[in-house]
This record gives sequence, C-alpha cells and structure tokens, in this order.
Amino acid sequence: MVARIIPVEPFDLVIFGGTGDLARRKILPGLFRRLADGQMPWEARLIGAARSDVDDDGYRAMVLESLEEFLPSSALKPRIVEQFLSMLSFVQIDATGDDGWPELKEKMRDDVVHAFYFSVAPSLFGPIAERLKERGIADGQARIVVEKPFGHDLDSARALNESLAAHFDEAQIYRIDHYLGKETVQNLMAVRFGNMLFEPLWNSQYVDHIQITVAETVGVGGRGEYYDGIGAMRDMVQNHLLQLVCLIAMEPPSRYDHDAVRDEKLKVIRALEPMEPDDIVRGQYSAGSGGPSYLEDVGDPRSRTECFLAMRLSVSNWRWAGTPFYIRTGKRLKARASEIAIVFKDAPHSIFDVPRGRHSNILSIRLQPNEGMQLGVTIKEPGPGGMRLIDVPLDMTFAEALGEEHSAIPDAYERLIMDVIRGNQTLFMRGDEVEAAWAWTDPVIAGWEARGHIPSPYDQGSSGPDDALMLLHRDGRRWREIRP
Ligand code: NAD
Repeated sequence: MVARIIPVEPFDLVIFGGTGDLARRKILPGLFRRLADGQMPWEARLIGAARSDVDDDGYRAMVLESLEEFLPSSALKPRIVEQFLSMLSFVQIDATGDDGWPELKEKMRDDVVHAFYFSVAPSLFGPIAERLKERGIADGQARIVVEKPFGHDLDSARALNESLAAHFDEAQIYRIDHYLGKETVQNLMAVRFGNMLFEPLWNSQYVDHIQITVAETVGVGGRGEYYDGIGAMRDMVQNHLLQLVCLIAMEPPSRYDHDAVRDEKLKVIRALEPMEPDDIVRGQYSAGSGGPSYLEDVGDPRSRTECFLAMRLSVSNWRWAGTPFYIRTGKRLKARASEIAIVFKDAPHSIFDVPRGRHSNILSIRLQPNEGMQLGVTIKEPGPGGMRLIDVPLDMTFAEALGEEHSAIPDAYERLIMDVIRGNQTLFMRGDEVEAAWAWTDPVIAGWEARGHIPSPYDQGSSGPDDALMLLHRDGRRWREIRP
C-alpha cells in the first residue's frame, strides 16, 4: 500500500514575486496546507523575494493576511499558523539589480534541497537565473520553477528556454502547467495504464471522438487589456488543453518516469495535423445579463482577439487516425466546468430496437468542479414491460468512493511544489514539449490573422457561438452539455 502522505526532505524555497497575487493566493496557502498535512517538514524555510520594502515581520503579517483570506478559518490551527510564519523570511531584491543577492545567499542553508520559484513576469526569468548562478546562490542540484506564460510564440519560448539553459540543466527546470497537477489528470493515466479494461479500446476502432471542454463563467473583467494581447489560443489551448490532448492520446510510456512520459506526450504534439480554417471557431461574448461585452471589457471596439475557441483536432498516427478531438474553451459561458469525454462507438449491431447513437458508452473525466470520473453504461431499465434500455453512470467521484480520508484532494499547486522538492519532473513540461506546442500553435494564429478573421459574437451564459455547435453537427455529433 502506498502511503497517503509522503513527507519531503527539508528544503529552502525562495519565492521570487513572493508578494504577488499568485504567491498570496496559491503558493503560500498551498504550502500551508502541505505543512498542516504533515508533508512539508517543520525544518523547511520559505524566503520571499521581491522589490517591496518589507522586513521579515512585515512579510509574515502579509502572508498571515493571505492565509486568512484564501483558506477557511477552520484550517488555520494556531499552532500550525505560528509554525508556518516562523518558517518565513524576506529579502528585498530587484531581479534586474545588484542589491539583495548577498543577503539571499546568506539565508540559504547547506545540506537541504534548494528550490527557486520564479513567480514573476517571464521577462525576469533570464535575469534571475543569471544572478542565481553567477553569484553562487544556486548550484547544479538546485531546482527552478517557472510559471506560465512560457512564451508568446515559438521564438519567445525558444529565447526563454535559452535564457534558462544558459545557467541550468533541463533536469533542474520545472515549467508549471497547473492542469497537470490536478488529481483527475493523473488519474487519467492511472485509469488508462493501470487497468486492462480501457487500453484495448483506446483507439480509433472503438472511440468515436473525444471532447474536451474548459468553460468559465467569468469574463476578462479587470485584466481585459492584458488578456486582449493574448486570447484563448495562447492562454488556454497552447498549454492546458494541448496537455490534456497529450495525456489522452499518448502511447503507454515504458515507465511512469519523467522522460518516458514526456517523450510520449511530445510525439502527440508532433502528430497534430495543421489546422484547416473550417475546423476553427472563434468567439467573443456580447453584452448581456447586465454585463458588458468582451469588446467593452477590453476597451477596444475593433479587437479581434478570441475569448472563445472551439477546434476539431486530428492526431495523425495509427492509433487515432479518423478520431476527431473536439476542444473548446471560453469565458462567460453557461457554467464553470472542465471535462474530458471519451465517447465510444456504438455497438456494431443492435439486437434491441433502438436508433443508433442513442446509447454510446462515455467515459467522462471531470477536472472541475467535483473532480471525478464517470463511465456511462447501458443497462435494461428494471421492471416489467419489455427490454427498455437506459444509460446509468458508474460513478468514480473520489470523495464518495474513497471516503472522508481522501476527500481533501490537494490543490494542483501544492502537489506540484512537493514534486519539485522531491525532484520529480513527470508533471512538468519539458522545453522541447513547449516549443513543439508553439510550433503547432503559431501557424494557426498566423492563419486567422492573415485571413483577417473576426470572432463570432455569442450570448453570455450560452455554450458559445452557433458555429461551434455546427462544428460537431456537420459531423453528425453534438457537444455534451456544459453543466456545473
Ligand atoms: P503580480 O503582479 O501580482 O506579482 C508580481 C510579483 O513580482 C510581485 O511580488 C512583485 O514585487 C514582483 N516583482 C515585479 N518586478 C520585480 C523585479 N524587477 N524584481 C523582483 N520582483 C519583482 O503577478 P502574479 O499574478 O503574482 O504573477 C506572477 C507570475 O505568475 C506571472 O508570470 C504570471 O503570468 C504568472 N501566473 C499568475 C497566475 C495568477 O493566478 N496570478 C496564474 C498563472 C500564472
């Protein structure tokens, strides 16, 4: 039996951008939960590094405020809070300057794992990496964690990779895609490769198509101008959705090991067909339900950036030829829901008097909310009155199936940071993977820019533009409902 909580070794974690939104909302509350759960040792040290002029006590007060804001009060046991705060300190550093680095070096202890989290703008990755290495703060064993966005296109991603590779080996670089830290995403691999049941059916002979939906109810609101320079393709598809496509489509790796898994994912990205314009639907939400339109939110009535994207992808290899992967993501949709659905083909011949397409088996994997899996199977409706078929779900929602002890699933960030300390890169993107994803993405974006494509408007609270429905209708299929 694998222990539920595997404590990690003592470590020093430096959080560049330790006063920023991500650190306050995700990283520090996540670390607190790992400490409370007994996974993070009491000997660990957390060092905030940013430009702000605060001392250790000021930083502790700031972090306490974040814990109070982002964790339920029931989680804040005084003894653990006191311990957590005592592990914190702060150094004032400008990533592009000379001050603060000797103080940081001074704080790093020997004989513990050293990790550096770059929770700052990507333009600072290079300057920080350079200073850490040249000033002897990070050695060949240290780990660095970098956040998204990892580049804006292939050239910028290459430049970022080069700026990191100039100072660190690939084995030291942990590129975060927090989707990979989600419990269900890892469970997808467990279900596929830990059971005999699914893998023989996991191909174009038995799978009709795949749907991946990542739907949000929020708009671009406060960060409209920033988002408008990016769009759904760069913000969601190039990284998160492609990673999900990879995990579904990849061949079984020979081992559950970082390079074996990432080699297989890379092959999937390289097998993606270039996109045809007819297989892409881009949208922008209109004004409605009292909320402004996308164009009003970003303050540019002529913007052509998409905040909704639906696509029909083809993976050209023996396993998947002929099985489309439909993906969609968007803002201000009818519910906040992320789901992968593997829709199996109909039985080749029905001995029951039912129309085709009425009873397909569907394996649905929910990433949020309520992480879990369901397998839809067809059975006879109980009772007298002949052979009536109904579909019932075999539910694998973790909290219900595994009980109380397993209901507190760690947040993706918590899991990933612990993996950094353990030195396990399996759930992080390798440099060549990121570049391959951009190499596929760039021509798609260049194509719609060259065509001067204008995104279709859609109603807030809907499932996106009508054209997105047509993307499946024309293939004789339909999207699954976006349900909370
Ligand atoms: P933020 O603007 O809230 O915080 C930025 C942090 O960087 C602050 O602590 C600031 O003091 C520090 N900083 C800025 N310039 C600096 C410099 N020259 N030297 C040292 N420190 C400097 O940003 P954020 O939202 O925390 O995001 C940080 C990174 O994480 C960004 O790359 C962002 O794209 C990425 N990210 C953020 C989120 C999120 O939910 N906030 C999600 C995914 C990725």
